[in-house]
Amino acid sequence: MNYPNHDPFEWIDHELAQLAERGLRRTLRTHDGPQGLRLNVAGRELINFGSNDYLGLAAEGRLCAAAARAVEQAGCGAGASPLVSGHSASHRRLEDRLAEFERTEAALVFSSGYAANVGTIPALAGRGDAIYADQNNHASMIDGCRLSRAEVHVYPHADCGTLERQLQTSSAYRRRLIVSESVFSMDGDLAPLAELVALAERFDCMLLVDEAHATGVFGHSGRGVSEALGVEHRIGIRMGTLSKALGCAGGFVCGSKSLVEWLINQARSYVFSTALPPAVCAAALVAIDLVRQEPQRRAGLLETAQGLRVGLREQGWNIGASESQIVPIIVGTADRAVRLSARLFEQGILVPAIRPPAVPADHSLLRISLNCGHTPAIVERLLAALAALRVEVADHKLKVPLGPDCDGCDRGI
Ligand code: PMP
Repeated sequence: MNYPNHDPFEWIDHELAQLAERGLRRTLRTHDGPQGLRLNVAGRELINFGSNDYLGLAAEGRLCAAAARAVEQAGCGAGASPLVSGHSASHRRLEDRLAEFERTEAALVFSSGYAANVGTIPALAGRGDAIYADQNNHASMIDGCRLSRAEVHVYPHADCGTLERQLQTSSAYRRRLIVSESVFSMDGDLAPLAELVALAERFDCMLLVDEAHATGVFGHSGRGVSEALGVEHRIGIRMGTLSKALGCAGGFVCGSKSLVEWLINQARSYVFSTALPPAVCAAALVAIDLVRQEPQRRAGLLETAQGLRVGLREQGWNIGASESQIVPIIVGTADRAVRLSARLFEQGILVPAIRPPAVPADHSLLRISLNCGHTPAIVERLLAALAALRVEVADHKLKVPLGPDCDGCDRGI
């Protein structure tokens, strides 16, 4: 474009340069072929520890076949938002199956997990209401809280004592809502769900639990941490994604019939966005069946994670309080996380570096996410590469001063 005097977009390059200086500029890493245990990046085959495809379903043959059949029958796009003409029999079948799987009266499918949170939270709380949110909640919940215009009380991560005090001292609201993840997406630790449920009941609050990283992985039947802890029937709003362990795309909310009816009317990200492609619904239906029929996928995954944590602790890494298939190595500065990730990349191993704003300043980490197909030999290979890097870190070879740290945090990836 030709700007004779001044380019009004000049600031963008300046800001990008600033991000780069602080080690916070991100670039896309594009891969060829399907998501899976190995990823082909720029002609190199990498061992993949950077995907949320926890159960190895993203490229599973039965899902792909169902999607292909559905494309033949129903075409590609849904063609409209659900209330206009985009809600097809595939969507209905998926929602019925989700409600049955989650043992709730009803379920509603959104075009993404992000859309589910960003639409559901403002539909439940608005001006004159209060939301109580864990400090480490995912960006989609943070954005939902911001959009709601409710008063947001952020409590320190998993700190039910502070939450209780907040609930005690702030009762003069029309409606109150507590929101938390069950498995935290960056640190892989678990929310104190039993305590959250008890507080919600005691203080008459609505409770929304985001099981995005737990659906298909936790619980006897794969319904999440709320199932594992036996509290699912006491959580009024359970949210999940089809995009992680279920290997597809889309988000969902489960609860009562009236809750779903309300969201159909009020959740703007549902009302004003084109419905998921029917083929994605068809694949997700198969994924739910596989979660039921192949429980060995999730059992092996959590065992592998436990073994990895033991190995990492022996090497002296700080792995926080992970109890899930997500295992962080917390290294502090963004620069150090990026360098460690690059070293692993050189050795053919993909472990993404997570930096602000996805995590707070000085909490940058390598995020290892496991897939049920990761064998002991693959995990050993990762541990061996990390053991060598541990020596370099101890020798301070990888310590490089950073610019001013980012002071904001907008969690999640
Ligand atoms: N909630 C959590 C906790 C997440 O980690 C994510 C995705 N990273 C989402 C919601 C959004 O899900 P989706 O990717 O399906 O939009």
